[in-house]
Amino acid sequence: MSEFINVSEIFGSNVFNDAVMQERLPKKVYRELKKTIEEGKELDLATADVIAHEMKEWAIEKGATHYTHWFQPLTGVTAEKHDSFISAPDENGKVLMSFSGKELIKGEPDASSFPSGGLRATFEARGYTAWDCTSPAFVRQDAAGATLCIPTAFCSYTGEALDQKTPLLRSMEAINTQSLRLLRLFGNTSSKKVTPSVGPEQEYFLVDKAKYLMRKDLIYTGRTLFGAMPPKGQELDDHYFGNIRQRIAAFMKEVNEELWKLGVTAKTQHNEVAPAQHELAPIYAEANVAVDHNQIVMKTLKMVACRHGLHCLLHEKPFAGVNGSGKHNNWSITTDDGINLLEPGVTPHENVQFLLVLACILKAVDTHADLLRESAADVGNDHRLGANEAPPAIISIFLGEQLEDVVEQLISTGSATHSLSGGKLQTGVRTLPDVTKDATDRNRTSPFAFTGNKFEFRMVGSKDSIASPNTVLNTIVADAFAEACDVLEQAEAFDTAVHDLIKQYLTEHQRIIFNGNGYADAWVKEAERRGLPNIKSMVDAIPALTTEKAVTLFEKYGVFTEKELKSRAEIQYEAYAKAIHIEAKTMIDMAGKQIIPAVVKYTKVLADTVNAVLAAGAEANVQLELLHETSGLLADTKAALEKLTKLERQSEQVEEGEALARYFHDTVIPAMAQLREPVDKLEMMVDKEMWPMPSYGDLMFEV
Ligand code: ADP
Ligand code: MG
Repeated sequence: MSEFINVSEIFGSNVFNDAVMQERLPKKVYRELKKTIEEGKELDLATADVIAHEMKEWAIEKGATHYTHWFQPLTGVTAEKHDSFISAPDENGKVLMSFSGKELIKGEPDASSFPSGGLRATFEARGYTAWDCTSPAFVRQDAAGATLCIPTAFCSYTGEALDQKTPLLRSMEAINTQSLRLLRLFGNTSSKKVTPSVGPEQEYFLVDKAKYLMRKDLIYTGRTLFGAMPPKGQELDDHYFGNIRQRIAAFMKEVNEELWKLGVTAKTQHNEVAPAQHELAPIYAEANVAVDHNQIVMKTLKMVACRHGLHCLLHEKPFAGVNGSGKHNNWSITTDDGINLLEPGVTPHENVQFLLVLACILKAVDTHADLLRESAADVGNDHRLGANEAPPAIISIFLGEQLEDVVEQLISTGSATHSLSGGKLQTGVRTLPDVTKDATDRNRTSPFAFTGNKFEFRMVGSKDSIASPNTVLNTIVADAFAEACDVLEQAEAFDTAVHDLIKQYLTEHQRIIFNGNGYADAWVKEAERRGLPNIKSMVDAIPALTTEKAVTLFEKYGVFTEKELKSRAEIQYEAYAKAIHIEAKTMIDMAGKQIIPAVVKYTKVLADTVNAVLAAGAEANVQLELLHETSGLLADTKAALEKLTKLERQSEQVEEGEALARYFHDTVIPAMAQLREPVDKLEMMVDKEMWPMPSYGDLMFEV
């Protein structure tokens, strides 16, 4: 059996957290740092020097030889440049391990190779990383040894954000300020700070590493570009919450241990809907920390999989025909003294503050549905959103029976007098304990669902950073709060004014509420009737970033400048075009060098067989038929390959940016589908021994 793990002992053991700081830093320095963390006070260099020294000593005790400014450029993944602690040798040739406050606070990676969307020309290579002391530093142990990782923000020489973290931090300030304004209106004088809490549920697939290495599509693009459906998919629903296989269990155990050491609260794990699909959820944390932790989770899944002879696929749609992976982003807003603004209480109809918050969120989501949709746009996510699996591309809000009833009372009669309650669960078995029901059932098809005391934004892709969805959520809700406060702060009779405002917002934005089946075609029609946007692809989603509405919103709260928004749109178009381009080239490579040659060999086997059978004096009609069919599909494959190759080459003539992204979306993707069709049919005919790569069945069922 495996060794005993003392979770409370290992938890956070590799994190320079509050307890460590309190223990190791001189009292005055600790107090200064806390002020910076909590109140955003500037840190002076002398204090930073002391912190850096202690951090280094602590990291060295953990075996660290290097440190890195760990940041999140606009590539969707994290980046780091490692420096060792050693200083120049002294006259005796000895080196010291040193780390200064300056090195802790500021770094200067050569930024020219990170996407800037035109914010910076290649010759203007300067970019700075700045220590984000609100997310704790940690020591990561991997094949490179141990490294002190310092979470940082990444900005250009001129101060524009080149990363995910900077705008997120700015949006957290916006929601803090506006939430406090709102709380004060309700007489709250005790709360000092309001932060968004986020709990992301991470879905992923695991496949056997050796098989993974036999598929160029998985290697280059993270998803399969060819592949016939196996005889069994997810139709039996026997994988969901199913028994976890031993190999996977061993993997999960190690993932948990690694995450716990890094202070990530890995909490829930289970098998997901599709074969070979799993999920991991941490306990929610402050948005900024949750974003960093999610990056650590993704990296850890990859690293540990490798150690177990597995490969972790984070792509949103590794396999056509079975469910893809997402990342449910659970979001709420909490004060420093523990009040969750999204907690309805037992009688929500009496909770005026909650009702105002709810009405503001409805307004925010309805007004900026396009921005929320954009924040979840990702090349891989195009295969999920609107493709009859969680969730549709149309943004709507699920409130559940209880709240919808309250909202209806408010809209129709102007006041709400009661709240439906859950009651007891009737199991029909006397020996089972009484279980009280929630007041509301779940709706798995809603992209934005109220789940008790939080909203769950289900559109986010599994591979994507959760920074931008949370940046958008924080900002749009901050704006709705601000507008409500503008009205209410001027009101003569607060009670009447707040009552009227709630009713007004609910009435104006009730079209965003939808409690029905989000996967049904009827909803698409109904949403259209209501005037809700249905933005089907990433390319169509990107323009939302640069509308006048978006620019005004983000500039008002200092989250993005217009220049930054334009650059982000450029980066998105570029990322889209590049990703599809790589997919097209990978298909061309696989079809030309692996699939067609394999089919040619197989037709030779068939032809030889036909001749041999005829020579033996028997009938060879079936063999001949197979040969004809195979040759026919081979011809289709070759024609489709030629077409795709031609279109891929022509992409060079298309202007970069939006035009190129649209070219790949409108012209190249259909040609890719055309190539896939005959190939998937051939896979079902050609001798398995001769097919040049593992099948869907091999990948999903033989892990
Ligand atoms: P559900 O059953 O609604 O999916 P879970 O308890 O499984 O909820 O939690 C899903 C995720 O939501 C977890 O990461 C959890 O920590 C997080 N979560 C729970 N409560 C909140 C909250 N108030 N704010 C943000 N995230 C939360
Ligand atoms: Mg959930």
